[in-house]
Amino acid sequence: MRGLRGKRVIVCLVVGAAATWLSAWGLMLSRIGDTTSAEFVDRWPVPVSDDWPSPMQTTRITSLGLRVEVTAADRTGPLTGGGNGTEQWAYWRLRLGWPALALDSSLRGSSATNLATGVAVKRDYETQGLLEYRFRSRDYAIPVLPVWPGFLINTLFYAGACWLLLAAPGGVRRWRRTRRGQCPACGYDLSGVEVCPECGTRDGAITSPERQ
Ligand SMILES: [Zn+2]
Repeated sequence: MRGLRGKRVIVCLVVGAAATWLSAWGLMLSRIGDTTSAEFVDRWPVPVSDDWPSPMQTTRITSLGLRVEVTAADRTGPLTGGGNGTEQWAYWRLRLGWPALALDSSLRGSSATNLATGVAVKRDYETQGLLEYRFRSRDYAIPVLPVWPGFLINTLFYAGACWLLLAAPGGVRRWRRTRRGQCPACGYDLSGVEVCPECGTRDGAITSPERQ
């Protein structure tokens, strides 16, 4: 009984962690996170080097299970490597998860495009916690980095749901047997006896069968 319960705890924790990742990606792919509230600030939300210009605006988008911050700045003029072009600096952060934000990812860097040729002459982005992959000739990027305490909260939340699902059928069966005056463990008729003569259960706890 104790061994079974221990196994159930481990199974539910693994299921809980998997559900934390899958629910976050599901939220992103199903686009439940369409804008519900946006907040604007006029500074970079992260430390940046001196050659970054003042940002145009930082947008924070928050909705069910999703938070996005985007800041960008453009400058058009002579490029470092020669020619005229547009340089863009950007910071972008995406956090996902429900009920708490559990996964984190960010991208920071700059790029430059030559206006005359339309060719990208610089592309220098660093990402954090972002898994980028290609599937059927489309590019995808999903956040994979757990953030605390959100990841733990969600894992326990989904593990609890898993536990209830696994425990519910047995609990209902034991309750019905007790109501009918049967042994909750094996269903044997308990009229007039306290300890089940069939399996040794007493008050719901298993003990060794008494000898006559
Ligand atoms: Zn019994």
